[in-house]
Amino acid sequence: MIIYAALVPHAQELLRAPEERALRFPIVSRALQTQQEHLYARKPDALVLISSHGAQMRYSCTMDMMPLPVVHHFGESKDEQARLFQPDIETSTRLRALTECSQEFMYAPHDVLNGEALVSLALLLEHLPDVHVLRLTTAYRDNAFHMHVGKILEEVLTALPLRYAVVISADLASIKTLDASAHRARLDALEFDREFLEIIGKGKYRDALERGQMRSRSVSQCVLDPSALLFGLLASCKNRSIVLGYESPFGTGVAVVEFEL
Ligand SMILES: [Zn+2]
Repeated sequence: MIIYAALVPHAQELLRAPEERALRFPIVSRALQTQQEHLYARKPDALVLISSHGAQMRYSCTMDMMPLPVVHHFGESKDEQARLFQPDIETSTRLRALTECSQEFMYAPHDVLNGEALVSLALLLEHLPDVHVLRLTTAYRDNAFHMHVGKILEEVLTALPLRYAVVISADLASIKTLDASAHRARLDALEFDREFLEIIGKGKYRDALERGQMRSRSVSQCVLDPSALLFGLLASCKNRSIVLGYESPFGTGVAVVEFEL
């Protein structure tokens, strides 16, 4: 059963001590607090974390079957990483069995968890130490493919007895240039974020995807594929989207969005 869906940012700048985070990201820090409270109240058994970073495969979404995380970011202890990432073996085994003859999923026996995923997990699981995690990485494919995979995932998770929170881990537009074109790139990035959140806030994202409105842009690849997957997954669940917070203080847009199911 899917009981919760959301978008959470993964900019590494968010991994600061809470007081410092609140100073630098006043709006998003409050939004993350609200999101944590909502997630805690929904009491998920498992968290499905979807991002575009990780072992991307050309034709398939990748499911990590890793036994233990090995992360070399942020200087965190291995114990802390292990606490944040307890693999959801039960769901991944069942998902694997149910999708065995499907080309949509690949299984990657990775033992490395990327830093972006760890940022989202640290923000989400601060008060939920016992939630197990199933991690998916999007493929190098188009929106229609990701929406199709989302639909399959929705069918599988709905049929399983656990309470699932499905969260995409992504930042909005970011600028990667510091040359003379940086100002133009910054305006483009802010414009992308505004358009993305407006469409989401109005619940029109799926329509926009189907019309090809959310084009792939260099500034926004991080969020587009996971969003297409999530909207494929939510297509048959009645939901209302709420943008809890957005900021772009250092050239990367970070947003917290919830989908009330
Ligand atoms: Zn990213």
